[in-house]
Amino acid sequence: MFLTIALFLPSIVLSNAQELNLYTARHYSSDKEIYRIFTKQTGIKIREVTSKDQALLERLKSEGSASPADVIILADAARLWRAENLGFFQNLDSNKIFKAVPKQFQSNNKWIGLTTRARIIVVNKRRYPSKNIESYNDLANLEFKNQFCSRSSTHPYMLSLVSSMIINNGIVNTEDWAKKVVLNQARTPRGGDTDQIRAVASGECGIALTNSYYLVRLMRSSNPRDRAIVKKVRFVMPNQKTTGTHINVTGGGVAKHSPNPKNAKLFLEFLISKKVQQLFAKGNNEWPIIKNIELENSKLTSLGKFKRDKLSMGEIGKNQFGAQKLLDSAGWK
Ligand code: FE
Repeated sequence: MFLTIALFLPSIVLSNAQELNLYTARHYSSDKEIYRIFTKQTGIKIREVTSKDQALLERLKSEGSASPADVIILADAARLWRAENLGFFQNLDSNKIFKAVPKQFQSNNKWIGLTTRARIIVVNKRRYPSKNIESYNDLANLEFKNQFCSRSSTHPYMLSLVSSMIINNGIVNTEDWAKKVVLNQARTPRGGDTDQIRAVASGECGIALTNSYYLVRLMRSSNPRDRAIVKKVRFVMPNQKTTGTHINVTGGGVAKHSPNPKNAKLFLEFLISKKVQQLFAKGNNEWPIIKNIELENSKLTSLGKFKRDKLSMGEIGKNQFGAQKLLDSAGWK
């Protein structure tokens, strides 16, 4: 009897040791290379479920405790915090991770940031050749009447920025800001960040918000149309004289009902290793979450050094409901 169990156990452990179910909202071909290296190093096969963030959350909800997910990766603190709030993560237990990832990018031992991005301002060069634009607050200035473009207010990128402004400037000032920005809108908010950059280049908008990697992607493109767009816009790192530019993350954690939690932890530790951090920067034009990693991406490096906002991702995530309410009442569609 004992012998049977003893013989049986290792094979169960072995089968668990060989796989990892990854639910990810990242959809970059460069990530595949990262998974391949992990499998080569560990023998652990990755089964990837790729979907948009909201669809992944729905799937996890419907799967409940039967979910095969081991690691969940989502974009933006707003979505990560939603997943945390829905109880989709288990406690992370890795000193390696806790030591290496700055506290700002850890949330209640549940998830960590893996890469960082900045929310920057893009400006039509010809329309505003020398106009001094310094901050997110400047987007409310009267001179940008009918000039401002952005995503819709329900998008996490907008919610997180406004959350950070509520924390930094207070709710009354942010409400006032949002109302003025709505008056400056050139069109009803729509499209993704690349659409905003395109609209600034075409002159449909004079000024817009985008995440940094969308601009760098265009800067690195060999497509003549993309190159033409890049020539027509300039960018501003907002809030350099105050709180620093709003920073956000792609991040992840171990799924609550992970069948392979050891592999999940190993994978997350792998993702913050120097080599992988460099690959993230190279492949998707985001900055490493770990300090002092050399970038192998000259266009990303060309954005330069800048002051980054120090707010914790968890705090930003938590404030998203207040941000949504504020944007709704300001009439930001
Ligand atoms: Fe994005």
